[in-house]
This record gives sequence, C-alpha cells and structure tokens, in this order.
Amino acid sequence: MGKSRNPRFVADAMLGRLARWLRVLDFDTRYEPALDDHRLVALADAEGRVLLTRDRHLVRFLRPEKSLLIAASAPLAQLEEVILACRLGPPPRLFRRCLLCNNPLNPARAGDLAGHPPPLPPDGMAPVFQCPGCRRLYWPGSHTRRMREALCRALPGWLPED
Ligand SMILES: [Zn+2]
Repeated sequence: MGKSRNPRFVADAMLGRLARWLRVLDFDTRYEPALDDHRLVALADAEGRVLLTRDRHLVRFLRPEKSLLIAASAPLAQLEEVILACRLGPPPRLFRRCLLCNNPLNPARAGDLAGHPPPLPPDGMAPVFQCPGCRRLYWPGSHTRRMREALCRALPGWLPED
C-alpha cells in the first residue's frame, strides 16, 4: 500500500464503527453500506481511497488499487491496525468532521443555532461546530471526553495530551 501524508479511506459495510472512529480523528472516510462490492471498489479507485475491509475474497478477486485487510473485530483494535499500517500521525484536533456524513465541520454562528432542533449545546458553551450537510451540532462535552479517553486507552501515547 502506498504511503501518503493524508490517506483517505472508504470502509466496507462491516466497518461502520471503524469509519466513525476515523472521522473522530478527522480522517476523510466514506461509508456507503448500500453499495455492493463492485461499486465499493469502483468508488475507492475513482477517489484514490484506501478500501478498508475484512473480506479477503473482495481484495483477492476485485483487486482494489489500494486496500487494507482488517483482521481485528473490535473497532478500536481495527483503528490501531489502520494507524500502524498507514503510519498515521495524530490529528491536530479531534471532532472536526461529522461522524454521520464525513463532512468537515464549520464553526457554528449564533444564527445557525436559532431555531435548531435539540440537542442544543448548553448556553455559553463554545466552540460549537456544525455539519454543513446534516446541520448536526458538535461541542465539547462528556460524550467527546469519553471518546477521547477510549482513544487514549486503546492507543497509549499516540494522542498528545489535551
Ligand atoms: Zn453531518
């Protein structure tokens, strides 16, 4: 597999939770579980993405240009495999990409929050980020703290201190 400073990924239908962890770390990761294997490989090749899969037959017979065969079944162990195989460095910041759509988040302005359906961040909470696609809001809180702690446990020493 070619080394790249910022590899982009597409995760197969079995690897949705891995895709979310990669998005937490701001790695561009598409997840399209409705696509069949041929279309998934075509998407990966067309966009120069590393296809992440646990299906060795897919790799063997459909021959994506870039692929990584994942052995582990636990999502954080899968994440460690990707980090080691692709030699990924930690991102400058976590939670800058929508966990649902993969879009990079934008800082939310006060006007974006007015009339937004819940959940809304507590008053005075900053900074708040928003997905330009699904409009979902992201802000630092107990949920992001728990995810960061899980990352630090799974990947000791890899993430810099907050
Ligand atoms: Zn979104």
